Amino acid sequence: MANIQKQVSENVAGDFFVDSTCINCDTCRQLAPATFGEARNYAYVRQQPRDEAERRLAVRALLSCPTGSIGSLGKEAISEVMGDFPLAIEDEVYYCGFASPKSFGGSSYFIRHPEGNWLIDSPKYLPKLVHAIESMGGIRYIFLTHRDDVAEADRYAARFDSERIIHRAELSAQPGAEIILEGDEAAEIAPNFLVIPTPGHTRGHLVLLHHNRYLFTGDHLWWSRRRERLGAYRRFCWYSWPEQIESMKTLLDYSFEWVLPGHGQRIQLPPNVMHENLNLLISHMEKS
Ligand code: SF4
Repeated sequence: MANIQKQVSENVAGDFFVDSTCINCDTCRQLAPATFGEARNYAYVRQQPRDEAERRLAVRALLSCPTGSIGSLGKEAISEVMGDFPLAIEDEVYYCGFASPKSFGGSSYFIRHPEGNWLIDSPKYLPKLVHAIESMGGIRYIFLTHRDDVAEADRYAARFDSERIIHRAELSAQPGAEIILEGDEAAEIAPNFLVIPTPGHTRGHLVLLHHNRYLFTGDHLWWSRRRERLGAYRRFCWYSWPEQIESMKTLLDYSFEWVLPGHGQRIQLPPNVMHENLNLLISHMEKS
């Protein structure tokens, strides 16, 4: 619960505010970019919502903030807006919202599929979201990109009798996982669900390619709004930067339109433009 007594000084006056517990995960700026901005190393309210549509986006951000750092002095339709999640992105791909502090506010995703639904990394375990997922058919597989973003995957797995997929090198974060991948070879777990090892950020980091269209990238790469290009940060590379560069090169063998990251902005580009962006990123990585 955000505390108005601790609000950051940059907030513009009005109902919505951010307090000093913000961890600068970027979730609010992705969900409600007109309302939230970045000051130094935290978020703030740069403009109060100007209409009902912007207000709803701001409430979605409030609900998804991992640290409860966003508050409102107004009467918000919290319960109603909770029902917006999972939020449709495109086709049967959804953003879960309700980011967990256990994954530093990492984004998680849901794919509805006739052969069984997938959860990619984990949001907070909240009854309202659990019921929503149940009404969409539950979860057959939980794909875990790497150890940092498992959050409450074990609770979702227990609730839906799901199979968790993780690389052996990340297993300490989810020791009870049911499907453990070894080595550095790509593996098709189900038709149109290709798991690609991408060591670098961590030793056992994985990405998931769905239908040669959606690439769920964990902390391997994301879209930088500021630079308007794909990004990968050396200072957040916990295992090996040279291996992360090599892993990035392996992605040139695949075609995809979406980058759906754990942290940072998601992006959709035509496949050829995405490929050019990937090449550009690799050349930046090799120079850094
Ligand atoms: S979602 Fe919360 S923790 Fe993340 S940047 Fe916004 S206010 Fe900060």
